[in-house]
Amino acid sequence: MKRFIIGIDIGGTTCKIGLIGTSGILHDKCEILTNLSNNGQHIIKGIWKVVNEQLNRLNIPKEAIIGIGVGAPGFINHQQGIVYESVNIGWENYPLTEELSRLSQLPVVLENDANVAAFGEHWQGAGKGTDHLLMITLGTGIGGGIIADGDILSGASGAAGEIGHLTINPNGVQCNCGRIGCLETIVSSRGIIRQALNKAKQYPGSSLGRLHRENGKITVPDIFYLASVGENLSRKIIDHVVDIIGFTLSQLAIVVNPTCIVIGGGISKAGKPLETGIKKYFQKYALARVRESCQIKLAQLRNDAGMIGAARLMLQQDLSL
Ligand SMILES: [Zn+2]
Repeated sequence: MKRFIIGIDIGGTTCKIGLIGTSGILHDKCEILTNLSNNGQHIIKGIWKVVNEQLNRLNIPKEAIIGIGVGAPGFINHQQGIVYESVNIGWENYPLTEELSRLSQLPVVLENDANVAAFGEHWQGAGKGTDHLLMITLGTGIGGGIIADGDILSGASGAAGEIGHLTINPNGVQCNCGRIGCLETIVSSRGIIRQALNKAKQYPGSSLGRLHRENGKITVPDIFYLASVGENLSRKIIDHVVDIIGFTLSQLAIVVNPTCIVIGGGISKAGKPLETGIKKYFQKYALARVRESCQIKLAQLRNDAGMIGAARLMLQQDLSL
């Protein structure tokens, strides 16, 4: 009797490994550092070793495992199970599915990490019960995932939902992707901090300027805190950020017509002020019909979303076989 799926979320810093039941319950999880040596060639072997230890520890036979779902950063060929390119890890045309199937002798499915996070929220989190979902993850970078008709939208070359690279300001700052003014350059933590540092330099006598001098740095929580106590420069930065996010989501919502938009990633820990601001500007820019059928919510599964969504993808494939 097969009862579990292994959900794996590979990141640039850590890999999360979860044992998930067919109803979506996370029974056990562990986390290991991502071994970036030799262009990531040891990562899969390391993960499989940990999975074995986990199954032994829990006294679960391999026969009870339906398969393995994997979320990985970068551009992914879902059908062929290949990572086209993952800059953070060093993989290029890496046959991840083949490698992990060979070691485990289990079925393996692969998707982009932001897409499986969206799928996790869709299955067990903020978007539970919705068929059309858009997720944005706000962190060091900006990720996105689209669930349409209950399925992940990957696109022709694995780039669907890469909303961090929508051009928002063609006269703006250069992005990691080589282009100018992507969403990521404005609303990621790097983008927000850059705006704050510019203001601190421009107005050294301000609270923001003083904070920078005293601490030698400014963090995103600092900026949210200063904005909450009414500091003008921080308020303006946050207002600009939620304006841009609300605007972008309102435009994407016309393409996807989602039932639910989920906001995740490290910056979403700012909570209510972020959520309220994004909602305000989404209301302002969105088409009425799209707006009326769409809810905006903060993500619920946090760091578990990727593992749970990857497991869901495996389960879905198993059910369709
Ligand atoms: Zn970009």
